[in-house]
Amino acid sequence: MFFDVDNPPDDPPSGCQHRLLWRLARALWDAHTPDGDGFCLASPCRRDNHLSPCPATRLAAEGMQTACGETVPTSPQWIAITRARITAGEIDPVDAIAELLWHHHQRRAGK
Ligand SMILES: [Zn+2]
Repeated sequence: MFFDVDNPPDDPPSGCQHRLLWRLARALWDAHTPDGDGFCLASPCRRDNHLSPCPATRLAAEGMQTACGETVPTSPQWIAITRARITAGEIDPVDAIAELLWHHHQRRAGK
């Protein structure tokens, strides 16, 4: 594990090759920060009184794990979302290059 799932850093940790995916997942995690009583503050979760970690927080953690090279149940979806963002150009160019190089490397490694 490259990071603390309960308190992930803002920036991708060293060892994270999937920088763009990290930022997408980290933004989701940020949007679902709990309040002092442990309830998620994001509006859809607040309506349902979700205690933290809510489903989105767990999904975000899986995205960050995927970004650090772990394979988790939602990894294929996270990678698909990240590729769609690259195609749409909705990204930081530096992160996009890092991401493309990572995919290139994965293909060469036969993954
Ligand atoms: Zn939530």
